[in-house]
Amino acid sequence: MAAQIIDGKAISQQVKDEVALEVAKLKEQGVTPGLAVILVGEDPASNVYVTNKERTAKELGMHSVLHRLPADSSQADVEALVDQLNADPAIHGILVQSPLPKGLDEETIFRRVLPYKDVDGFHPENVGKLWLGDNALVACTPAGCMVLLEKMGVDLKGKKAVVVGRSNIVGKPMAALLLAKHATVTVCHSRTADLPAVCREADVLVAAVGRLQMIKGDWVKPGAVVIDVGINPVPGTKSKIRGDVDFDSAAEVAGAITPVPGGVGPMTIAMLMSNTVKACKMQMK
Ligand code: NDP
Repeated sequence: MAAQIIDGKAISQQVKDEVALEVAKLKEQGVTPGLAVILVGEDPASNVYVTNKERTAKELGMHSVLHRLPADSSQADVEALVDQLNADPAIHGILVQSPLPKGLDEETIFRRVLPYKDVDGFHPENVGKLWLGDNALVACTPAGCMVLLEKMGVDLKGKKAVVVGRSNIVGKPMAALLLAKHATVTVCHSRTADLPAVCREADVLVAAVGRLQMIKGDWVKPGAVVIDVGINPVPGTKSKIRGDVDFDSAAEVAGAITPVPGGVGPMTIAMLMSNTVKACKMQMK
């Protein structure tokens, strides 16, 4: 194997340590950053995610509340809870766990969270600010990918970056962040012609597709940095997950690569914590 492994677990721990220090400083000033997570229904994966988020926030010294609503909650019920948290001065960040049960209008609920409490970075105001280069709350997963690149000392200026995937939560904000760091960015999707050839051009290749091990080693430019956002269950296993990149073949060619698990995944929750502190500081101003 040629590639350096990018250790998301270790780097996410660094981020969390930095957040814990910030929290301690804010507490000295009499302010405890507060995170509220809303879970509607009982989706098992979502349940694990929200429990982790609540626990991590508490571990870092924050005020953390988990609101569980029944699966048959109405749109008005969820919106009323968002309104209540919007008005609560002890809460600086609000996260509504996706996916919401069928029948609820996710977009409307996400947009109801006040932009300065929107620690998921999904509100149009934050998305707009990100593209304008203003100070914004940025979606946690792409923000985490940027921290990985930064901590690995990757200088993006003038580099060719290829993002595979154009979702609102990963691909598009990732492209905006890479562009802001002066990379030359190409965003690919399901209609991109000759995707392997486009990927082969990349100095930095970000995969956010949701297709198990789709990106093969011979799609990777020798020496490239590969960031694999994908979380895909491996068929025939109980709980094994792998990324969008075929790790074994890509690691033969890449200069550095994130593993799955243990790469981007742990960064997402760390960035949620970081966003909550950022939101708290923004609200103090
Ligand atoms: P979406 O399904 O919303 O988007 C997938 C994107 O990939 C779309 O833009 C789609 O194109 C594109 N795509 C699909 N198939 C192909 C193909 N064959 N060739 C080229 N492009 C293709 O997914 P998300 O962005 O939400 O998530 C992507 C992956 O990242 C998933 O595995 C998800 O589980 C994981 N994830 C991981 C997180 C983490 O914390 N590590 C957080 C969030 C997501 P088109 O737009 O044309 O349909």
